[in-house]
Amino acid sequence: MVESSMDNGAERLAPDTLRARVRNLRRPLGVAALAALAAVPAGVQPWQAVVGYGVFAAALLIRLPGSAAARARDKDNNTAAGPEDFKLLDALDLPTIVFDEQTLVMRQNAAAVSLAGAFPANATLSARIRSPAVLELVARVIDRGEPETVEDADRVPSERWHEVRVAPVSARSAAGQRLFVLTYRDLTQSRRLDRMRSDFVANASHELRTPLASVIGFIETMQGPARNDEAARTRFFGIMLDQAQRMSRLIDDLLSLSRLEMRAHLALTAKVDLGATVAHVIDTLRPMASELGVEIDFSTPDQPVILIGDADELIQVFSNLIENACKYGQSGKRVEISVTDTDANGPEVMVRDFGPGIPKEHVPRLTERFYRVDDETSRTKHGTGLGLAIVKHILNRHRARLVIRSQSGEGAVFIVKFSRPEHADTA
Ligand code: ADP
Repeated sequence: MVESSMDNGAERLAPDTLRARVRNLRRPLGVAALAALAAVPAGVQPWQAVVGYGVFAAALLIRLPGSAAARARDKDNNTAAGPEDFKLLDALDLPTIVFDEQTLVMRQNAAAVSLAGAFPANATLSARIRSPAVLELVARVIDRGEPETVEDADRVPSERWHEVRVAPVSARSAAGQRLFVLTYRDLTQSRRLDRMRSDFVANASHELRTPLASVIGFIETMQGPARNDEAARTRFFGIMLDQAQRMSRLIDDLLSLSRLEMRAHLALTAKVDLGATVAHVIDTLRPMASELGVEIDFSTPDQPVILIGDADELIQVFSNLIENACKYGQSGKRVEISVTDTDANGPEVMVRDFGPGIPKEHVPRLTERFYRVDDETSRTKHGTGLGLAIVKHILNRHRARLVIRSQSGEGAVFIVKFSRPEHADTA
């Protein structure tokens, strides 16, 4: 970047058009014209003054571009990097440090200050940079004069990965030292995504392998020891059906997640009536709720609450939340659901149960894939551990938020907060 700033400077000094050249030279040309005029009363012939001025002006105009380029080249090769060059660094969000061949820090931009901390005056790189890999890289580049890159990982205060590049600069410091630039490119986000992806594949395989192993085990038992035990075979078939259904639910949820990821960037255009959508979900879940002995109370405003969204996806959100409230809050025997749309808060859907609640420390992690407060309870309630992760994905696409309030023994409240749509005030 420092190099390119100098190139631009050279171009400015060597304008291509004649007009630009005359503009650049107006002062010497003006002075020469005055001198030519003053020479006539002093005895010089007018034609001599005119010819003399013409030759001088032509020489100046023809010589300028070459000399400017030469000056620019000189500047590139020999002059010190000045404050103008360094100013460019401050505009970059790439952490950048300029240092000389003694590793004395000449300049760091704001991004480098927030990453590495501010270097004290007259400090060398090692005052703030501790990584042996980076310091070795610096030594190598000073030695060889060729740009090089290494990857560097920091564990404290949190795990971060950077690609660190050191390159020589074609300018010298005011003290005549060679200059180098060190930049950091943050790889943390892409590394985290890679890790999440591989964790997810490992978790999904594990979740599928458990019921599959159980099904295989029962088949082997029925082929061997329980070959002629009719009662055992009937019981085992029941368990195998359970496990097969569990795998099927898991695959459905995994496919749901991957479809949601594929659609995440598509704009939402349809108008959805929030009250009617929640009412529809309650109607389909009422048989399951009454089987669990849970009563559902529902309230919604008289006038429709209209959103821009995807009706099927919103049905999935409210099905997951209401099903969870009935399953996990079964002991409270009651689930309250309300749709509201106030000036202060905008459209909201609240699902409250009066069950055992969720210990505070688990609440922030509930929307992670396969995160369960209690594995056994989730499994006996036919959970996959993906319900709230699906909810979070859908709400992200709808620019809505999920607020979870719960404490052990106090039931749980899940609130979906939508932002008010701009053109959805009519049904
Ligand atoms: P699952 O398929 O296991 O139900 P979810 O992603 O829907 O997965 O929920 C994650 C976990 O959050 C559940 O396993 C359960 O431990 C907890 N949970 C969700 N809703 C409630 C609730 N209303 N009350 C208590 N715990 C809940």
